[in-house]
Amino acid sequence: MIQKSTKEKVADTAARKRTNTWSTKDKNWDAGTIYCSPVTYKLVVQELRVDPKYVCAIPLNTPFTVVSPDCLGRDVTVSLCEANHCPGAVLFFFTIRNPAKPRSPPTTVLHVGDFRWDRAYMQNIEIISKICSRKVRLNELYLDTTYCDAKYDFPAQRDSIDAALKCVEVEGIGSESGKTLFVFGAYTIGKEKIFVAVARMFGKKIWVDARREKVLKTFFSDEDAKMLTRNKAETNVWVVGLGQIVNKGLKEILDDANKRSGGGGLRGPKYQRVVGFRPSGWTYSGKSTKKKDAMLQTTLAPQKKTKIPDIVASRKSGVVSIYGIPYSEHSSFSELVDCLMCLQPQNIIPTVSADKSREQVTLLLDSCRALIKEEKDSGVHDEEEAKRRNAS
Ligand SMILES: [Zn+2]
Repeated sequence: MIQKSTKEKVADTAARKRTNTWSTKDKNWDAGTIYCSPVTYKLVVQELRVDPKYVCAIPLNTPFTVVSPDCLGRDVTVSLCEANHCPGAVLFFFTIRNPAKPRSPPTTVLHVGDFRWDRAYMQNIEIISKICSRKVRLNELYLDTTYCDAKYDFPAQRDSIDAALKCVEVEGIGSESGKTLFVFGAYTIGKEKIFVAVARMFGKKIWVDARREKVLKTFFSDEDAKMLTRNKAETNVWVVGLGQIVNKGLKEILDDANKRSGGGGLRGPKYQRVVGFRPSGWTYSGKSTKKKDAMLQTTLAPQKKTKIPDIVASRKSGVVSIYGIPYSEHSSFSELVDCLMCLQPQNIIPTVSADKSREQVTLLLDSCRALIKEEKDSGVHDEEEAKRRNAS
């Protein structure tokens, strides 16, 4: 899949390399046409500097005829839809028809790329809703099995965002807004929803550097883009590279901020403290960290009424506090199981750790069966199935 590997390049190259080294990395791309979402098109051309003649943007939720010599004798279309992953990431839904057999149903293939399954969100997508209601039969599912293990049980994104908002509230962004600097760690793209939610909730602007501003503006709505500022004096909500969300990095940011504001003079330092936020995908493990976090929390904010949510890991050292927010853009194990329950594919092809694909499929199917049994025992399944039969 050229489409997936290129999208991956944007996301994963961004994750692994320093921002200033990857922009020129792939401008010599000439391994065929890249079919992608309009957002990925912009990022691939603007950030990776791939020659636009190699990139083809396909509008979302619109069947697109794929012309390929590999598909001779077959009529193949693809539809792209939102993957609930990083900006530009899409699911690819293929239908393959044999023109010699116009009456037989097409073969259907869904390649999810990287995705986070969320039933309520995904069922709003036309093609997914058709598969869920069995109007369309899904033959093959290429599944993002990044977290295909029951130990990966992390909170829903909404809960993670709420937790981040709570932390910001506890740290007093409203009442002592001039005294605490809030710094959010981020990759080049991905996990923007956290700092966007904070800025919206507390009516703040978001400081970003020129490079990040350019990237964010490729996919931010006009309304969100208005929240961005290049002027540090305008806000105490800043976004920096994830690598700077460590004690030393945050202390440097704080010192630099106070130097700029002429701190130390009659007015005193502008900021007394700095609070860093580090979104993490997989470091969260509910039970083992809870006790430790609870201890840290009592030392962190003993006198405040609002409590730091359990799912957050927090650390404080002098004027620096760091919150780890479990925020995943891949599906948790239970979400993968729910995805299979909804889509009921005939065939599952794991796309992560392919050497373990057989074990992964067994694990997923066993969990589906256990869930069905559990629901049957409690009568839920019959009800659902009856509803589904009535609906179709
Ligand atoms: Zn990804």
